[in-house]
Amino acid sequence: MKDRLLLHVCCALCLPGPLRALTEEGFEVEGYFYNPNIHPLLEFRKRLKAVKTMNERLRVPFHYAATYGLNAFLLMLDGEYGPSRCPRCYAHRLRETARFARLHGFRFFSSTLLVSHEQQHELVVTAGERAAAAEGVEFVARDFRPFAEEGKQLARKASIYRQQYCGCVFSEYDRYASTGLELYKGGKR
Ligand code: SF4
Repeated sequence: MKDRLLLHVCCALCLPGPLRALTEEGFEVEGYFYNPNIHPLLEFRKRLKAVKTMNERLRVPFHYAATYGLNAFLLMLDGEYGPSRCPRCYAHRLRETARFARLHGFRFFSSTLLVSHEQQHELVVTAGERAAAAEGVEFVARDFRPFAEEGKQLARKASIYRQQYCGCVFSEYDRYASTGLELYKGGKR
């Protein structure tokens, strides 16, 4: 019998590569969308919908935490809005995934955050291992980054939404702050 693995899924683009790699390794994978770090509300809905659309092609069993989590996210950061917010964000999402895995009889869990060149890979691994120890399950830490293009290509081909910033309001600001001068060129009506 195959080992069941709960895969924390951060977005549609990051799903296909890790899913294929873990399936080829022999795991029976189920997805878990838990991302209270995605803001604002309409962006959260877009990304949730994109994961569902992507999964129409991949067809893995999926669990969706579809409640918008801005309040809970800000409470969790407890005023740490600078770069130190990211380890807290990883720890929170992976602890919840580990808890969900334990409650639903999964021995293993992993995360699509491990495929992204934008994320801090070692910090994700540390967060996953801590969450695993706290909940009594096992974190499958793999470097999925060589498979990062897979999801992007599939999303492009299928016209699935591709986000432009990491997720939280702070990352949205970091992404667009320098573009403000282009908003109004003035003069002509
Ligand atoms: S930048 Fe990304 S990883 Fe860091 S806190 Fe924001 S959503 Fe989380």
